[in-house]
Amino acid sequence: MDNIIRLLPDNIANQIAAGEVIQRPASVVKELIENAIDAGATKIDVNIKDAGKTLIQVVDNGIGMNSQDAVLCFERHATSKVSKAEDLFQLTTKGFRGEALASIAAIAHVTLKTRKADCDTGIEITIEGSKISSKEDTVCPVGTAFEVKNLFFNVPARRNFLKSDKVEFGHISDEFERVSFAHPSIQFSLKHNGVEVYNLPEAVLRRRVVDIIGKNQNDRLVPIDESTDIVTLKGFVLKPEFAKKTRGEQFLFVNDRFFKSQYFNHAVNKAFEGLISDKSFPSYFLYLTVNPEKIDVNVHPTKTEIKFEEEKFIYSILLSSVRQALGKYNIAPTLDFERETSFDIPSEMSKHPTREPQIKVNPDYNPFTSNTTRSATNSTGSVKQNYSKAIKSQGFGQNEATQDDWANFYEIQNVESEEAQAEIVLEETHKIKGGFLVKNSMILTPSKSGLLLIHARRALEQIVYSELHNSFITKPINSQALLFPLEKEVSKTEIIGWTENNSLLNQLGFNGSIKDNVLEITSVPNVLEEENLQDTISDILEMICHREIEKGDLAHGLIATLAANASMRKLDLSNNDAVQSLIDRLFLCENHMYTPRNKKIIESITTEELEKKLN
Ligand code: ADP
Ligand code: MG
Repeated sequence: MDNIIRLLPDNIANQIAAGEVIQRPASVVKELIENAIDAGATKIDVNIKDAGKTLIQVVDNGIGMNSQDAVLCFERHATSKVSKAEDLFQLTTKGFRGEALASIAAIAHVTLKTRKADCDTGIEITIEGSKISSKEDTVCPVGTAFEVKNLFFNVPARRNFLKSDKVEFGHISDEFERVSFAHPSIQFSLKHNGVEVYNLPEAVLRRRVVDIIGKNQNDRLVPIDESTDIVTLKGFVLKPEFAKKTRGEQFLFVNDRFFKSQYFNHAVNKAFEGLISDKSFPSYFLYLTVNPEKIDVNVHPTKTEIKFEEEKFIYSILLSSVRQALGKYNIAPTLDFERETSFDIPSEMSKHPTREPQIKVNPDYNPFTSNTTRSATNSTGSVKQNYSKAIKSQGFGQNEATQDDWANFYEIQNVESEEAQAEIVLEETHKIKGGFLVKNSMILTPSKSGLLLIHARRALEQIVYSELHNSFITKPINSQALLFPLEKEVSKTEIIGWTENNSLLNQLGFNGSIKDNVLEITSVPNVLEEENLQDTISDILEMICHREIEKGDLAHGLIATLAANASMRKLDLSNNDAVQSLIDRLFLCENHMYTPRNKKIIESITTEELEKKLN
């Protein structure tokens, strides 16, 4: 009997492959631009006619090809980028499969002109349906120019499937924007039917983003810039009040490659939770850099989905960094003010005339709660803040901030302190400078319009949380080695939980290993005291395994647990300086009104309320 299995002829194999790689004109644009980038081009010009159905031309000033390579590049699996299997795990180039040009040549009329710097003449090749129809020397600049005409000329089903020019050109400009965002140091231009759509000069990242999304957006960008051992994160989010009604400007890049990820998108959305309505979408341009060994770009032929080895860790960093950046932006004045001490103000200062403090600060803003409405945009586009009663009563939140406002805030407290001190004398109350310590747990201090009550332990919890959180975004939390490793018997689920979250736990300052069913912890964050280690580890294991907790919130949950445990015993209110320092550090926190678990830290009682009580 005759053999019935035959190898497919190359041109058919290429056509089939083309179906995967080249779905529409935009795919050609993407592949050609990416090849130009891989060739080290610093200038890439794209010229399109009829949404790419008639012509796609990409001209670069990269390294070019010699005449042999110019022929070889159209062969399937012909690539200069991967030569051994290990290379696949160290990819720093866009392409690596060696199938784009073979695919394009199988379904279009292609002309290639290319020259290397060390050759006097270039070469021009035309290829149609995988067959080279001409090859000759030519005069051309160093670099490479591809012209792709009559796309899908021999695949009518595909050609008929193409959408209107508007839609197809939309796809092209999406691809163009994605690579342009990712490579600000390369000059790009895009023309459609002779009209210039983009002309992007070489630029720094912010300028490139603004050149694409519009100059008027510049002031709306909130920068993000964090770096950990595992991931570096740069880029911008658009201020919450400019969130879009339709999903649109959401860009994620890893190692200068655009990718889509519902999971990471979720992290960014979560960071915006409570700041934008459910019906709007935040805009973001976020650039991750990770070790190429830790990602797999090979999961999808068009390569917009990427598998990350450390995705949970990255999720947490994304969420934390964006929240922190938004927090800073929202209550920036609290970070700028010249800090004055609240408890050691010399008495002469109280003679100074006091000014009405006016500061634009939103202490209600708690980036770690989701259900409070914190800002609303008024008709002029500026933000109306919802100030808490506590701060409104200080006269805050009505006008622009001045540098001295916080100093005045404390000054004012001092003015009335004599009076207040005379009024309240309780048995367990210890007089401290400028205030009282009640039951060794609450600080009572006079304020302009009444009294402030500060829950000392919660204040410390928030301080520790905030300090740990800020450190966590950039480097592993300081860790101390245990003299004797702590051993704990763990269940199967706990083993999985610990292993899955190993990077996250390392970043939090925990190091340990699992042998059989015993978890051996060798170092712990140095904020923890020996006595509550067991409890903390149990809390953490419970959180990583059992709780219905969203993955991204895990990091915050864990840091909150650390903070709660660490602040349990560390509270020191033994002298004025300690109290002073506690209050100073509290006011340095972006959020000083609530603990990470949403417990109130500061309560303000107005003079009227006090008077009412005495009636
Ligand atoms: P891949 O990019 O996966 O290697 P392609 O089919 O896109 O596969 O390209 C095949 C090869 O052709 C590349 O590896 C590269 O050596 C060469 N090549 C393609 N485009 C260019 C270009 N613009 N400049 C220089 N060389 C190029
Ligand atoms: Mg390629």
